[in-house]
Amino acid sequence: MTDDTWGRVCNELQKTVGQNNYTTWIAPLELIHLEDGIASFRAPTKFMRDWVSRNFAEPILSELRRAGVSAERVDISVPLRQAANGIKPAAKPAAAPVKPRKPVRAEAEPLPGAPLDARFTFDSFVVGKPNELAHAAAKRVAEGGPVTFNPLFLYGGVGLGKTHLMHAIAHELRVQRPDLRVLYLSAEQFMYRFIQALRDKQIMDFKEMFRSIDVLMVDDVQFIAGKESTQEEFFHTFNALVDQGKQIVISADRAPGEIKDLEERIKSRLSCGLVVDLHPTDYELRLGILQTKTDAYRAEYPDLQIAPGVLEFIAHRISSNVRILEGALTRLFAYASLIGREITMDLAQECLKDQLRQSERKVTVEEIQRKVAEHYNVRLSDLVGPKRLRAIARPRQVAMFLAKSLTTRSLPDIGRRFGGRDHTTIMHGIRKIEELRATDSQLAEDIELLRRLLES
Ligand code: ADP
Ligand code: MG
Repeated sequence: MTDDTWGRVCNELQKTVGQNNYTTWIAPLELIHLEDGIASFRAPTKFMRDWVSRNFAEPILSELRRAGVSAERVDISVPLRQAANGIKPAAKPAAAPVKPRKPVRAEAEPLPGAPLDARFTFDSFVVGKPNELAHAAAKRVAEGGPVTFNPLFLYGGVGLGKTHLMHAIAHELRVQRPDLRVLYLSAEQFMYRFIQALRDKQIMDFKEMFRSIDVLMVDDVQFIAGKESTQEEFFHTFNALVDQGKQIVISADRAPGEIKDLEERIKSRLSCGLVVDLHPTDYELRLGILQTKTDAYRAEYPDLQIAPGVLEFIAHRISSNVRILEGALTRLFAYASLIGREITMDLAQECLKDQLRQSERKVTVEEIQRKVAEHYNVRLSDLVGPKRLRAIARPRQVAMFLAKSLTTRSLPDIGRRFGGRDHTTIMHGIRKIEELRATDSQLAEDIELLRRLLES
């Protein structure tokens, strides 16, 4: 296979796995050769090798095949040095391995971190597609081994498990590596400590304390946006620790580049480790969480009775964040135990009226068009416009199909939103997709993916 072919396959992969995934996982791969149906690549780290093998081998193979290359298997190796110790090459500031430092340093000052929630452990964290990578990366940090990526930057909307994962890391490290000094705190607390130190003229102590930490975790770092001197101090602390090869974990509600009023140099430092987003929950994850919490609850209250289908109903209907989902379940249990009845569908509907109403989210035709256009990489204006090219007409029909199945709009109404098309055209489009879907598994998959995206 020529580099050209691989270049073309890469272009296709960008579309199939998405730009973000592509940049993070595929672009760093180096193609070594293709022999006997085995496509051999080199990845910069072990972590990367494992993740790519597990999640991207299939897309890579199918794109290779589509490009006419016969490939049966993807084989990814890592440079020997990495294979031995898992350290990332020193492209970034050199990170020395954290040395095991036993025995426990009992003489050291206790760290002024925030209290940890005992419930936030890895055991109680339910893993699903949307948080799989964040979980894997957090687990890796929790081993307390050599620093593989620095910092680990976790971001995502509220209530998706960022704080939970950080606490879990801290709990786990306490057990696995009691010799390490681990500090977890919010960015707000960081600022508060800093200001206090300034006021009390103890800034040297402050600096010294932070520089003695082995694993530093700062939650909700977006808080320091716009706070200049705190940013400055944070930046120095951050650099000092990274230079010593100490692990840093950061969370925020958005990606580093998207935090407004954060200095450029901080943004770029924050981006240079592993940046992972926690995606909105999907149905499977929500159901998993509900089941896990119910099991835990049942262990305490064996009398709890839940009719079949109730958890599925909640997972389906309350699709906002996990905190709200948990809140709904707790409310339901409390209510049921108060009135001493089995939790039936009726009871759930009655008890969760408000929560259900709130999360009733209507998908709009416009939203569907936007997502479909994005997914197929066509312009929104083309999607609703007159062009008859297959590359545009097919996505258009997919959008019509989804508009019919996800909204309550009538065919003429949908037609109007597709550039004033006749309702028979819409009908034809929908039929076409229904037909194709039965035989074209790629199309069926696309539709399923889009449906989930739109409903989450
Ligand atoms: P964030 O910090 O992202 O706003 P949290 O970590 O505080 O969110 O999570 C909100 C609540 O949801 C917590 O009670 C947490 O235990 C729970 N939670 C979030 N994700 C999961 C998960 N995957 N499994 C179990 N519980 C979860
Ligand atoms: Mg949080």
